[in-house]
Order: sequence, then structure tokens, then C-alpha cells
Amino acid sequence: MSSGIYPDFLHRRFSRLLFRHSPWRAPLSINPTSSLAPGQLPAPNTTYYTSTYEYVLTTSITHLMPPPTPKYFQLAMSPAAPPPSSTPKPKRTPLLRLELRDLSQPGAQSFLSSLSAPTALEEAVAGVLSYLYRGLPRHCIPPTRSVTLVLRSMPGVAYTAGKDLDDDHKEIHFSTDYIAGVPESRRRAEMLGVIRHEMVHCWQWNALGTAPGGLIEGIADWVRLRSGLVPPHWKQESDGDWDAGYQHTGYFLEYLEKRFGEGSVRRVNEALREQKYEEESFWEDLFSEKVGKLWEDYGESFGKEKLEEKKQKS
Ligand SMILES: [Zn+2]
Repeated sequence: MSSGIYPDFLHRRFSRLLFRHSPWRAPLSINPTSSLAPGQLPAPNTTYYTSTYEYVLTTSITHLMPPPTPKYFQLAMSPAAPPPSSTPKPKRTPLLRLELRDLSQPGAQSFLSSLSAPTALEEAVAGVLSYLYRGLPRHCIPPTRSVTLVLRSMPGVAYTAGKDLDDDHKEIHFSTDYIAGVPESRRRAEMLGVIRHEMVHCWQWNALGTAPGGLIEGIADWVRLRSGLVPPHWKQESDGDWDAGYQHTGYFLEYLEKRFGEGSVRRVNEALREQKYEEESFWEDLFSEKVGKLWEDYGESFGKEKLEEKKQKS
């Protein structure tokens, strides 16, 4: 049964390439970053998406050159947003599991000493469900039955995938090498932020596999943003395309949430539940505007904010 969760779609379509040619399985005979400039997102609806892109991008961090927007580094953290009042309950409480592949890895030890795994995972699930499903009936929540956090040595930061035999069982793979490389002062916050982002992929809809990857990633980073787990390098920007993904799209979604009211991003996710994504009608049905116009409006409002900030400083 298809859960409609993006990473599974990714997993089915991409796993062969990802795993067969991945550097932790075989010599780096094919480098998925080779066709992409650092920081460049793949074209929409190609197989290079979601967690794969995280893999691609972070490969560039570790092996190639510093990308223009370093991913997932976190300094002082803004205080966490207060948790939404009531947490929606899925039909079945998901089984949460932790798998440590190698306890001798410094990243694994650091994870154990700085986080309570049950609390971190439970809070991530509750936070994601609150932001995406509050006030919606239970059948709107994906039937995710288990989430396993796998800590292991691998290139990149993290990715999420469903199991081959049953899409409702999710695995978040998180790199112990990456964890060990984050300065200790911000390691805990960074781990929580990455887990929050990946947990969104375990519970979000993807328009039956047709949603733009940038929107899927934007929703994941929007939840991270709302959860007060913003890394210090994140920048709000309004150039480029609305669906460039990650925080770029996450901040755009935050603009929509503020402009059209609390629950706007929840409506976006809900609209991705059962129907295929048709760009024109999708945004018009939700916000009575085309997404290009919304993106323009965002750019204008953002420009005004910047001007006012400048005036106040001078
Ligand atoms: Zn992601």
C-alpha cells in the first residue's frame, strides 16, 4: 500500500541508484553531485530529490568544496516556539526505535550523552503532527507505523526512506560522522533540528508522488523553523524560484502562514494528500492566487521589511 509519503516515492525510484553507487557501498564510481553546481537544486520531478539532495549537498561539504549555503550548522538557537496546545493522535501510536550501528563512533557516543533519544523522537513526532495535522480528522494523518532512527557512519547528513516491504515503516538515517563534525556547543540543537526535519518526511503528504521536491523540503524546513530549531546560517531570501526548497521555500511558507492565517501550511500539506499536483489550480484553490504572484508578493513584502530594518539601524 502506498502511504503517499515522499521519501518512499524517492526510495522506490531512486534507491537503486543511491545505494548501488553510494560511496559507502562501493567505490565512488558515480558521483551524484557531478552534474550539479554546489548549491544548485536538481530540476523538479527528477529522481534527485528529498533526502537524496541532502546527501548530494552534504557530499559537497565533505568531499568537494564548501557550498554557498552550508547545510545544517547551528550556532546559538532562537528559543523554541511554545509547543502547540493539543497534539493530534494518529490512529496507531507509532513504534519509535533507535539503532546504533557502531557504539565506538564518537558521533554515536555524543548522541547518547547529549540527548534523551525517547524524548527527542517523541517530541519530534508530536511537533510534526501538531504543525501539520492539528484540528484535522485522524484519517488525514499518514498511517506511519514505526520510525527507526539509524545512527551510522555515512557521507552526508541524513535521509529518510520507507522500508521496501512496507512503506508505513520509516527509517531516518543520520550520519555519526556528521554529528561528530558539528562543534560541541551546537551539536545538540543541530541534532534536534535535523531529526525534526527528517521526521516531517515520515508524516507529510506528497500529492501521490507528484509534488515538487522543493515544496516537500520547504515544508520540512518550515516545521523546523516553527519549532525554533533554526540554524544560524539560514537566510531569508526572495530571489530565485519559490520551489528552490529547504529554508528558501520554508520562509516563503512562513510568509503565507502569516498572510493567510495560522493553518495555511497545514492546508498546503492536506491538499497534497489525495490529489495529484497541478500547479495552477493548487495555489489558486488555496490562496486565490497563482504561486508566481504569491512569490512576487513575498519578495515585495520582504524588500519592504529589509528597508525598514535598514532605516531603523541608520
Ligand atoms: Zn529533507
